[in-house]
Parts: sequence; structure tokens; C-alpha cells
Amino acid sequence: MSANPFQKKSRSLAAPKILSEYVLSASGPGQFPKEEYPEIAFLGRSNVGKSSLINALLGQKALAYTSSTPGCTQAINFYRVDSSYYFVDLPGYGYARISKETTLEWKTLIESYLLGRQGLRLSIIVLDARRGWMEKDLELKRWLDLHGRQTLVVATKMDKLKNQSEMQQCLKDLRQGAGEAMLCSAATGRGVREIWQAITMTRATQ
Ligand code: GDP
Repeated sequence: MSANPFQKKSRSLAAPKILSEYVLSASGPGQFPKEEYPEIAFLGRSNVGKSSLINALLGQKALAYTSSTPGCTQAINFYRVDSSYYFVDLPGYGYARISKETTLEWKTLIESYLLGRQGLRLSIIVLDARRGWMEKDLELKRWLDLHGRQTLVVATKMDKLKNQSEMQQCLKDLRQGAGEAMLCSAATGRGVREIWQAITMTRATQ
């Protein structure tokens, strides 16, 4: 099937639960699974809400690991989604307490994935709607653009924005930072449907 859960009848904001399973965690390219499905990668600063967003997209409570102690995962996690995609959760970046060596390891690991992976269709850069672009996010976006990788920018935790005018301002700031972005919330499910549409479009156009 096309794996857009909203193509099934759903009036709720949250994605219906989709058949999805954890496949493996890789700490090097030799451990990546066989290229079988189009891949959607998720990238973001530690604690930005990336795992929660993956869970919200999959209608799951805790498939992707969520934690209040950022920076502890240094592996790439693969999830099989409805026998149609791999969702690929890359380790969070920009956590101040991580040593220089770990940062270098992180860079080597994610660069080997982002540069070498044939099946990668879309890299979703997750930002915090209240903070917007940070230097590390911009660096990543520029780097992906430079290497011709398709990106989607998503600012999560929009439930923390107080009103419409804060949302408009947030979108304006995001756009000024580095192009179009979508707002969403894993807490309320707002924007999840639109992200699924973008994911499905990516598949249709490639
Ligand atoms: P990760 O480190 O990027 O995977 O971030 P997590 O998904 O673990 O989320 C970090 C913290 O932000 C957790 O306490 C989550 O409950 C919270 N969080 C994540 N998404 C949202 C959201 O959409 N709204 C609100 N209010 N909190 C969120």
C-alpha cells in the first residue's frame, strides 16, 4: 500500500497506528540493513522532539525512544513502516556536554549514511518551533543542499506557541532562516497529516 495513513478514513489529528517495527540500530555503515524501501531520515538537535514526532507519525506511543537525557544515543535506528518505507532516526546533535571525539564520531556516522545511502529520499530536519534555526541546523541544511539531498523542515512543539500571531511570526522567522518549513506538534497531532502528505509526495515524484 501507499503508506499514507490518512488515506484511510481518519478525522482525528493524530495518525492512526501504522504497522511499524524497529529493525536495528547501526553504529557503522556495515550494520545498515539491506536497501529495501525508500528511506525517510529524521535529523535534529538533541531533545528537539524528534522521537516524539516519529511516534506521532506512526500513531505509536513509544516505538522511537524518547528521553529527557539528550545526547545518549549514538546509533542510527531503522524502523520498517508498513512494508513501504524505512524511517531512519539519526542521533541528535548539538548537545553541549558531548565531547569533541563523540561529535566527530557522530559526524562520521551520519555523513556515511547521508552521503552513501541510495534509498534515502527525504531528510526531515526537525526544529523546535520556539527556538527556530540554530547554527548547527543551518549547517546541516546547507550541507544537505550542497550534496543534493532533498529536505523537509519541520518545526515541532507548535502547541507551545500561544496564538496565531506567534505561529505566523515563527513561520516567518523559519522562512527567513532557510526557506519553507512546516509546523507540527507531536503532543496534539497538528501538522502530522501534512508531513505524511509531503512524505508520500516524495515517493510519488521519484
Ligand atoms: P528527541 O531527543 O529529539 O528525540 O526528543 P524527544 O522526542 O525525546 O522529546 C524531548 C522532550 O520534548 C520530551 O520531554 C517530550 O515529551 C517533549 N516533546 C516532544 N514533542 C513535543 C510536542 O510536540 N509538544 C510538547 N509540548 N512537548 C514535546
